[in-house]
Amino acid sequence: MVLPLDLIAATHVRVTCDLCGSDARMCPKRWQEERGARELATHAFQKIGWYLDVKDHPRQRIYDDYRREGHGKWYCPNCAKKKHM
Ligand SMILES: [Zn+2]
Repeated sequence: MVLPLDLIAATHVRVTCDLCGSDARMCPKRWQEERGARELATHAFQKIGWYLDVKDHPRQRIYDDYRREGHGKWYCPNCAKKKHM
């Protein structure tokens, strides 16, 4: 259902480098659900060179969720290069 008058909350996603502290942001206005925003941002940040060191979890399904939703340590493109990741 489309409401004639609708309040759209813009979800801002920020990623911060674990080594140097530099960050990047995305403000994808269309992403209204937090879960979807995390997934899309994770994918988008990785595409521009950010590296995700996924948080460990013994259960594969949860680990896959972590990887998809960007849970773990992030490294900016520069630090990722330096660490040869
Ligand atoms: Zn960095």
